[in-house]
Amino acid sequence: MILIVGGGKSSEIAAEEVIRQGAVPLRLVLPEETFSFLPDVETVKGRLLSFTGVQGNFQAEIEIDREVKKFNVGAAVIAVDETPKVSDTDCITLSSILENNYLKCSGTIVILLDAKKPSRASHIVAVEKAIEIKDNNPDCRIYIITPEVRTFGLDELEYCKAQKKGIIFIRAEDIKHSSGKMKVTDSPSGKVLDITPDLVITDEEQEVKNAALWAKAFSINLYEDGHFRLGNVSRGPVTSMRNGVFLCGTASRALLPREMDTSARAAATRAVTASQTPLMLNSAEVDEEKCASCMTCVRVCLFHAPSINEKGKSEICRDLCQSCGLCVNLCPASAISFKGVSRIELRNAVDDVLRCLHE
Ligand code: SF4
Ligand code: SF4
Repeated sequence: MILIVGGGKSSEIAAEEVIRQGAVPLRLVLPEETFSFLPDVETVKGRLLSFTGVQGNFQAEIEIDREVKKFNVGAAVIAVDETPKVSDTDCITLSSILENNYLKCSGTIVILLDAKKPSRASHIVAVEKAIEIKDNNPDCRIYIITPEVRTFGLDELEYCKAQKKGIIFIRAEDIKHSSGKMKVTDSPSGKVLDITPDLVITDEEQEVKNAALWAKAFSINLYEDGHFRLGNVSRGPVTSMRNGVFLCGTASRALLPREMDTSARAAATRAVTASQTPLMLNSAEVDEEKCASCMTCVRVCLFHAPSINEKGKSEICRDLCQSCGLCVNLCPASAISFKGVSRIELRNAVDDVLRCLHE
Protein backbone atom coordinates (compact mmCIF):
# COMPACT_ATOMS: atom_id res chain seq x y z
CA MET A 1 0.00 0.00 0.00
CA ILE A 2 1.23 3.50 -0.87
CA LEU A 3 0.17 6.41 1.34
CA ILE A 4 -0.60 9.57 -0.65
CA VAL A 5 -1.29 12.77 1.23
CA GLY A 6 -3.06 15.82 -0.18
CA GLY A 7 -6.43 16.54 -1.73
CA GLY A 8 -5.33 18.44 -4.85
CA LYS A 9 -4.57 17.64 -8.45
CA SER A 10 -1.14 16.12 -7.74
CA SER A 11 -2.59 13.59 -5.30
CA GLU A 12 -5.20 12.55 -7.87
CA ILE A 13 -2.55 11.94 -10.55
CA ALA A 14 -0.25 10.12 -8.09
CA ALA A 15 -3.11 7.84 -6.93
CA GLU A 16 -4.06 7.06 -10.51
CA GLU A 17 -0.43 6.23 -11.33
CA VAL A 18 -0.05 3.96 -8.28
CA ILE A 19 -3.07 1.95 -9.47
CA ARG A 20 -1.66 1.84 -13.00
CA GLN A 21 1.55 0.37 -11.56
CA GLY A 22 -0.45 -2.39 -9.86
CA ALA A 23 -0.20 -1.12 -6.25
CA VAL A 24 -2.89 0.07 -3.83
CA PRO A 25 -3.09 3.77 -2.92
CA LEU A 26 -4.47 5.11 0.35
CA ARG A 27 -5.20 8.82 0.05
CA LEU A 28 -5.14 10.90 3.23
CA VAL A 29 -6.67 14.37 3.36
CA LEU A 30 -7.07 16.64 6.36
CA PRO A 31 -10.60 16.81 7.84
CA GLU A 32 -10.97 20.47 6.80
CA GLU A 33 -9.59 19.91 3.28
CA THR A 34 -11.75 19.81 0.16
CA PHE A 35 -11.01 17.10 -2.38
CA SER A 36 -12.52 15.45 -5.41
CA PHE A 37 -13.85 11.91 -5.15
CA LEU A 38 -11.83 9.22 -6.96
CA PRO A 39 -13.89 6.06 -7.54
CA ASP A 40 -11.09 3.46 -7.24
CA VAL A 41 -9.12 5.12 -4.48
CA GLU A 42 -9.72 4.71 -0.75
CA THR A 43 -9.65 8.25 0.64
CA VAL A 44 -9.66 8.85 4.38
CA LYS A 45 -10.12 12.13 6.19
CA GLY A 46 -7.86 12.31 9.19
CA ARG A 47 -4.62 13.41 10.78
CA LEU A 48 -1.31 11.60 10.52
CA LEU A 49 -0.11 11.13 14.10
CA SER A 50 3.10 9.27 13.33
CA PHE A 51 4.96 7.66 10.47
CA THR A 52 7.53 5.19 11.73
CA GLY A 53 9.58 2.38 10.22
CA VAL A 54 11.74 2.24 7.14
CA GLN A 55 11.22 2.12 3.39
CA GLY A 56 9.20 -0.97 2.50
CA ASN A 57 7.88 -1.33 6.02
CA PHE A 58 6.35 1.88 7.40
CA GLN A 59 3.58 2.12 9.97
CA ALA A 60 1.22 5.09 9.69
CA GLU A 61 -0.93 6.02 12.68
CA ILE A 62 -3.91 8.03 11.51
CA GLU A 63 -6.62 9.59 13.63
CA ILE A 64 -9.94 9.15 11.84
CA ASP A 65 -13.12 10.35 13.57
CA ARG A 66 -11.33 10.38 16.96
CA GLU A 67 -10.23 6.79 16.52
CA VAL A 68 -6.57 5.92 15.92
CA LYS A 69 -6.06 3.42 13.10
CA LYS A 70 -2.78 1.81 12.02
CA PHE A 71 -1.85 1.14 8.40
CA ASN A 72 1.16 -0.75 7.05
CA VAL A 73 2.51 1.09 4.04
CA GLY A 74 5.52 0.46 1.83
CA ALA A 75 6.19 4.09 0.86
CA ALA A 76 4.55 7.51 0.90
CA VAL A 77 4.02 10.36 -1.53
CA ILE A 78 3.49 13.87 -0.20
CA ALA A 79 1.38 15.34 -2.99
CA VAL A 80 0.43 18.68 -1.50
CA ASP A 81 -0.07 21.67 -3.81
CA GLU A 82 0.25 25.41 -3.20
CA THR A 83 -3.02 27.28 -2.94
CA PRO A 84 -3.74 31.00 -3.40
CA LYS A 85 -3.52 32.96 -0.16
CA VAL A 86 -6.87 34.48 0.74
CA SER A 87 -6.62 38.19 0.00
CA ASP A 88 -8.97 41.09 0.56
CA THR A 89 -8.69 42.30 -3.05
CA ASP A 90 -11.97 42.69 -4.91
CA CYS A 91 -10.19 42.23 -8.25
CA ILE A 92 -10.69 39.15 -10.40
CA THR A 93 -7.81 36.75 -9.94
CA LEU A 94 -5.92 34.65 -12.46
CA SER A 95 -7.03 31.40 -10.82
CA SER A 96 -10.68 32.46 -10.98
CA ILE A 97 -10.50 33.14 -14.72
CA LEU A 98 -8.85 29.74 -15.13
CA GLU A 99 -11.66 28.03 -13.20
CA ASN A 100 -14.53 29.96 -14.77
CA ASN A 101 -13.19 30.30 -18.28
CA TYR A 102 -13.88 34.01 -17.91
CA LEU A 103 -13.19 35.14 -21.44
CA LYS A 104 -16.08 37.37 -22.49
CA CYS A 105 -14.30 40.58 -21.51
CA SER A 106 -14.39 43.86 -23.40
CA GLY A 107 -12.99 47.41 -23.10
CA THR A 108 -9.65 47.92 -21.39
CA ILE A 109 -8.29 44.98 -19.42
CA VAL A 110 -5.26 45.17 -17.14
CA ILE A 111 -3.51 41.99 -16.01
CA LEU A 112 -1.44 43.05 -13.04
CA LEU A 113 1.35 40.65 -12.04
CA ASP A 114 2.91 41.98 -8.87
CA ALA A 115 2.23 39.36 -6.15
CA LYS A 116 5.16 38.84 -3.75
CA LYS A 117 5.17 35.02 -3.98
CA PRO A 118 3.32 34.19 -7.20
CA SER A 119 3.07 30.70 -8.63
CA ARG A 120 5.74 29.99 -11.22
CA ALA A 121 3.01 29.53 -13.80
CA SER A 122 1.33 32.90 -13.27
CA HIS A 123 3.17 34.84 -16.01
CA ILE A 124 2.67 32.11 -18.59
CA VAL A 125 -1.00 31.66 -17.68
CA ALA A 126 -1.46 35.45 -17.90
CA VAL A 127 0.04 35.63 -21.39
CA GLU A 128 -1.93 32.61 -22.63
CA LYS A 129 -5.19 33.98 -21.20
CA ALA A 130 -4.52 37.43 -22.67
CA ILE A 131 -4.10 35.85 -26.12
CA GLU A 132 -7.33 33.88 -25.64
CA ILE A 133 -9.27 36.99 -24.57
CA LYS A 134 -7.88 38.95 -27.53
CA ASP A 135 -8.81 36.13 -29.95
CA ASN A 136 -12.36 36.12 -28.57
CA ASN A 137 -12.67 39.88 -28.61
CA PRO A 138 -10.13 41.62 -30.91
CA ASP A 139 -11.50 45.09 -30.01
CA CYS A 140 -10.46 44.91 -26.36
CA ARG A 141 -7.25 46.59 -25.23
CA ILE A 142 -5.08 44.45 -22.96
CA TYR A 143 -2.18 45.58 -20.79
CA ILE A 144 0.07 43.18 -18.90
CA ILE A 145 1.83 45.12 -16.15
CA THR A 146 4.63 43.49 -14.17
CA PRO A 147 7.91 44.54 -12.53
CA GLU A 148 9.71 41.67 -14.26
CA VAL A 149 8.70 39.43 -17.12
CA ARG A 150 9.28 35.78 -16.25
CA THR A 151 8.82 32.96 -18.73
CA PHE A 152 10.79 29.80 -19.32
CA GLY A 153 12.03 27.91 -22.38
CA LEU A 154 9.62 27.80 -25.30
CA ASP A 155 7.09 29.91 -23.39
CA GLU A 156 9.21 32.93 -24.39
CA LEU A 157 7.60 32.54 -27.81
CA GLU A 158 4.17 33.28 -26.32
CA TYR A 159 5.36 36.84 -25.64
CA CYS A 160 6.11 37.42 -29.32
CA LYS A 161 2.69 36.00 -30.20
CA ALA A 162 0.99 38.25 -27.64
CA GLN A 163 2.84 41.36 -28.86
CA LYS A 164 1.92 40.61 -32.49
CA LYS A 165 -1.72 40.49 -31.43
CA GLY A 166 -1.42 43.97 -29.91
CA ILE A 167 -1.18 43.07 -26.21
CA ILE A 168 0.85 45.76 -24.46
CA PHE A 169 3.50 44.85 -21.88
CA ILE A 170 4.54 47.49 -19.34
CA ARG A 171 7.48 46.94 -17.02
CA ALA A 172 6.61 48.85 -13.89
CA GLU A 173 7.21 48.78 -10.15
CA ASP A 174 5.41 51.95 -9.24
CA ILE A 175 1.71 51.21 -9.76
CA LYS A 176 -1.02 53.30 -8.13
CA HIS A 177 -4.57 52.02 -8.40
CA SER A 178 -7.62 53.76 -6.97
CA SER A 179 -11.22 54.60 -7.92
CA GLY A 180 -11.01 52.70 -11.19
CA LYS A 181 -7.93 54.63 -12.37
CA MET A 182 -4.30 53.52 -12.62
CA LYS A 183 -1.08 55.53 -12.64
CA VAL A 184 1.77 53.37 -13.85
CA THR A 185 5.40 54.47 -14.06
CA ASP A 186 7.11 52.68 -16.93
CA SER A 187 10.44 51.59 -15.39
CA PRO A 188 12.72 51.85 -18.48
CA SER A 189 11.53 55.34 -19.61
CA GLY A 190 10.28 56.79 -16.33
CA LYS A 191 7.11 57.99 -18.08
CA VAL A 192 3.86 57.97 -16.13
CA LEU A 193 0.92 56.38 -17.94
CA ASP A 194 -2.73 56.89 -17.03
CA ILE A 195 -4.92 53.85 -17.62
CA THR A 196 -8.65 53.54 -16.91
CA PRO A 197 -9.32 49.80 -16.85
CA ASP A 198 -12.76 48.24 -17.22
CA LEU A 199 -11.41 45.04 -15.68
CA VAL A 200 -8.34 44.30 -13.54
CA ILE A 201 -7.08 40.73 -13.23
CA THR A 202 -4.39 40.09 -10.60
CA ASP A 203 -2.09 37.21 -9.75
CA GLU A 204 -2.14 35.87 -6.21
CA GLU A 205 0.34 35.17 -3.51
CA GLN A 206 0.61 31.39 -3.03
CA GLU A 207 1.05 29.47 0.19
CA VAL A 208 1.67 25.87 1.21
CA LYS A 209 -1.05 25.20 3.75
CA ASN A 210 -0.24 22.80 6.62
CA ALA A 211 3.30 22.16 5.36
CA ALA A 212 4.70 22.26 8.92
CA LEU A 213 2.11 19.75 10.07
CA TRP A 214 2.98 17.22 7.34
CA ALA A 215 6.72 17.83 7.73
CA LYS A 216 6.50 17.04 11.44
CA ALA A 217 4.43 13.89 10.92
CA PHE A 218 6.87 12.56 8.31
CA SER A 219 10.00 13.85 10.11
CA ILE A 220 11.19 15.72 7.05
CA ASN A 221 12.36 19.33 6.77
CA LEU A 222 11.05 22.50 5.16
CA TYR A 223 12.89 25.27 3.33
CA GLU A 224 12.66 28.71 4.89
CA ASP A 225 9.94 29.70 2.42
CA GLY A 226 7.71 26.88 3.71
CA HIS A 227 8.21 24.42 0.82
CA PHE A 228 9.19 20.79 1.47
CA ARG A 229 12.94 20.25 1.35
CA LEU A 230 14.00 17.96 -1.48
CA GLY A 231 16.48 15.14 -0.91
CA ASN A 232 20.05 15.19 -2.13
CA VAL A 233 20.28 15.44 -5.95
CA SER A 234 22.05 12.08 -6.02
CA ARG A 235 18.78 10.45 -4.95
CA GLY A 236 16.80 11.83 -7.87
CA PRO A 237 14.34 14.67 -8.40
CA VAL A 238 11.25 13.62 -6.38
CA THR A 239 12.90 12.39 -3.20
CA SER A 240 12.59 13.87 0.26
CA MET A 241 15.30 13.65 2.87
CA ARG A 242 13.76 10.43 4.17
CA ASN A 243 14.11 7.16 2.27
CA GLY A 244 10.74 5.90 1.05
CA VAL A 245 9.00 9.30 1.30
CA PHE A 246 8.61 11.07 -2.05
CA LEU A 247 7.51 14.58 -2.97
CA CYS A 248 5.48 15.97 -5.84
CA GLY A 249 3.20 18.94 -6.46
CA THR A 250 3.91 22.63 -6.15
CA ALA A 251 4.52 22.38 -2.40
CA SER A 252 7.97 20.97 -3.01
CA ARG A 253 9.06 23.06 -6.00
CA ALA A 254 7.77 25.65 -8.44
CA LEU A 255 6.13 23.68 -11.22
CA LEU A 256 4.23 24.62 -14.33
CA PRO A 257 0.83 22.94 -14.80
CA ARG A 258 2.21 20.58 -17.44
CA GLU A 259 5.13 19.61 -15.17
CA MET A 260 2.80 18.66 -12.29
CA ASP A 261 1.60 15.57 -14.11
CA THR A 262 5.16 14.32 -14.73
CA SER A 263 6.21 15.04 -11.16
CA ALA A 264 3.22 13.19 -9.63
CA ARG A 265 3.69 10.17 -11.89
CA ALA A 266 7.44 10.08 -11.16
CA ALA A 267 6.87 10.22 -7.38
CA ALA A 268 4.22 7.49 -7.59
CA THR A 269 6.51 5.26 -9.66
CA ARG A 270 9.43 5.76 -7.26
CA ALA A 271 7.15 5.01 -4.31
CA VAL A 272 5.87 1.76 -5.83
CA THR A 273 9.43 0.62 -6.58
CA ALA A 274 10.65 1.65 -3.12
CA SER A 275 7.81 -0.22 -1.41
CA GLN A 276 9.06 -3.42 -3.07
CA THR A 277 12.70 -2.89 -2.06
CA PRO A 278 12.80 -2.70 1.74
CA LEU A 279 15.80 -0.92 3.18
CA MET A 280 17.93 -2.52 5.85
CA LEU A 281 19.55 0.42 7.58
CA ASN A 282 22.15 -0.07 10.26
CA SER A 283 21.23 2.80 12.54
CA ALA A 284 23.76 4.66 14.64
CA GLU A 285 23.91 3.86 18.35
CA VAL A 286 25.06 5.86 21.36
CA ASP A 287 27.27 4.53 24.13
CA GLU A 288 25.62 6.28 27.08
CA GLU A 289 28.72 5.83 29.24
CA LYS A 290 30.69 8.02 26.85
CA CYS A 291 27.97 10.54 25.94
CA ALA A 292 28.75 14.01 27.31
CA SER A 293 25.24 15.36 26.51
CA CYS A 294 26.71 18.10 24.33
CA MET A 295 23.74 18.01 21.90
CA THR A 296 26.01 18.08 18.81
CA CYS A 297 24.29 15.01 17.34
CA VAL A 298 20.84 16.48 18.04
CA ARG A 299 21.77 19.66 16.20
CA VAL A 300 23.53 18.15 13.18
CA CYS A 301 21.18 15.28 12.31
CA LEU A 302 19.05 16.29 9.32
CA PHE A 303 16.54 13.55 10.12
CA HIS A 304 15.76 14.49 13.74
CA ALA A 305 16.86 11.02 14.86
CA PRO A 306 18.85 11.82 18.04
CA SER A 307 17.20 13.28 21.13
CA ILE A 308 18.19 13.60 24.77
CA ASN A 309 16.43 10.96 26.88
CA GLU A 310 15.24 11.13 30.47
CA LYS A 311 18.71 10.09 31.67
CA GLY A 312 20.14 13.20 30.00
CA LYS A 313 21.95 11.13 27.35
CA SER A 314 21.58 11.04 23.58
CA GLU A 315 19.36 8.33 22.13
CA ILE A 316 18.97 7.67 18.40
CA CYS A 317 15.59 6.69 16.97
CA ARG A 318 16.21 3.64 14.76
CA ASP A 319 13.26 4.46 12.50
CA LEU A 320 14.53 7.93 11.66
CA CYS A 321 18.29 7.32 11.40
CA GLN A 322 19.34 7.16 7.74
CA SER A 323 22.88 5.93 8.54
CA CYS A 324 24.49 9.03 7.04
CA GLY A 325 27.37 8.90 9.53
CA LEU A 326 27.41 12.64 10.26
CA CYS A 327 26.91 12.35 14.02
CA VAL A 328 29.37 9.43 14.22
CA ASN A 329 32.07 11.68 12.86
CA LEU A 330 31.13 14.83 14.75
CA CYS A 331 30.53 13.43 18.25
CA PRO A 332 33.36 14.94 20.34
CA ALA A 333 33.20 12.06 22.82
CA SER A 334 33.35 9.33 20.14
CA ALA A 335 30.19 7.96 21.72
CA ILE A 336 28.32 7.12 18.52
CA SER A 337 28.99 4.19 16.22
CA PHE A 338 27.26 1.91 13.78
CA LYS A 339 26.64 -1.53 15.21
CA GLY A 340 29.50 -3.80 14.17
CA VAL A 341 31.43 -0.94 12.56
CA SER A 342 34.00 0.83 14.71
CA ARG A 343 34.85 4.49 14.20
CA ILE A 344 38.33 3.51 13.03
CA GLU A 345 36.91 1.04 10.49
CA LEU A 346 34.53 3.73 9.27
CA ARG A 347 37.35 6.27 8.90
CA ASN A 348 39.51 3.71 7.06
CA ALA A 349 36.61 2.99 4.68
CA VAL A 350 36.17 6.73 3.99
CA ASP A 351 39.95 7.08 3.45
CA ASP A 352 39.86 4.16 0.96
CA VAL A 353 37.05 5.81 -1.00
CA LEU A 354 38.87 9.16 -1.08
CA ARG A 355 42.11 7.47 -2.15
CA CYS A 356 40.29 5.72 -5.03
CA LEU A 357 38.83 9.05 -6.11
CA HIS A 358 42.27 10.68 -6.28
CA GLU A 359 43.99 7.81 -8.08
S1 SF4 B 1 27.35 14.34 20.08
FE1 SF4 B 1 28.09 12.59 21.30
S2 SF4 B 1 28.49 13.45 23.31
FE2 SF4 B 1 27.23 14.95 22.23
S3 SF4 B 1 25.11 14.42 22.85
FE3 SF4 B 1 25.53 13.32 20.93
S4 SF4 B 1 26.29 11.33 21.61
FE4 SF4 B 1 26.40 12.65 23.37
S1 SF4 C 1 23.87 8.63 11.38
FE1 SF4 C 1 23.04 10.44 10.30
S2 SF4 C 1 20.86 10.04 10.23
FE2 SF4 C 1 21.67 8.68 11.80
S3 SF4 C 1 21.45 9.82 13.69
FE3 SF4 C 1 23.49 10.22 12.92
S4 SF4 C 1 23.30 12.13 11.75
FE4 SF4 C 1 21.22 11.31 12.04
